[in-house]
Amino acid sequence: MKIVCIGRNYGEHARELGNAIPDEPVVFLKPPSALIPATGPITLPAFSKDIHHEIELVYHIERNPEGKAIASHVTIGLDLTARDLQQALKSKGLPWEKAKAFDGSAYVAQQRISIADLEQENDLEFRLERNGTIVQTGNSNEMIFDVKTLVAHVERYMALLPGDLLFTGTPAGVGPLTAGDHLVGFLMGKPFFDLKVEA
Ligand code: ZN
Repeated sequence: MKIVCIGRNYGEHARELGNAIPDEPVVFLKPPSALIPATGPITLPAFSKDIHHEIELVYHIERNPEGKAIASHVTIGLDLTARDLQQALKSKGLPWEKAKAFDGSAYVAQQRISIADLEQENDLEFRLERNGTIVQTGNSNEMIFDVKTLVAHVERYMALLPGDLLFTGTPAGVGPLTAGDHLVGFLMGKPFFDLKVEA
C-alpha cells in the first residue's frame, strides 16, 4: 500500500505559498508508516517548529471489473507538512520527503463515501475547524486537476493498486499547529474526524 499525494492542486493555495500554478500535477509519496492511528492523536515531531495542517480530499483506489485502477471511495484526511523543513529543502532543490513523509504525517478519516452513490461526483465540499474556527474550506470543483485526471496522470509513472490512497491537494488557509489544538474535519457538512494535537 502506498500514499500518493498531489501538490499545488488549488490555485489560491499555490499562490499563498508563492508557487506557480502547475501545468501538470505535482506528485509525491508518503510511506505506510506515515499514517496516524484512526483515533489520533497528532504528535508534533521534534525536528520542526512549523507543522502545518493541510486538509484534503482522499480517494481510495480499487480496481473496476476491467482491472483498471479507479477512485472508488472518497473521504478527507490531513497531509501534515513540516513547512520550515520543506522551505529549506525547496530552496536547495532537494526532495521533500523529510518534510512530508515522516511518521505521523498522514491522517485519513475512517468513514468514507462510495463514489457510485454520489449524485454529483465533483461537488464535494469540505472544511477544517481548528479550535472551533474554520481555517480551510474547499470543494472538489476547485481542483486544478480532477480525480480522474490525477489517476490517469499518476499511472503514466507508477501503477495505482487496490488499497492505495490518493491525497488530492489542499485549498488555501494552511497554517501551523500547536500542542493542545483540536481539529475537526467535515465532508459534505458532516464531521468525519476529530483529533487532538500533542507535543
Ligand atoms: Zn498537501
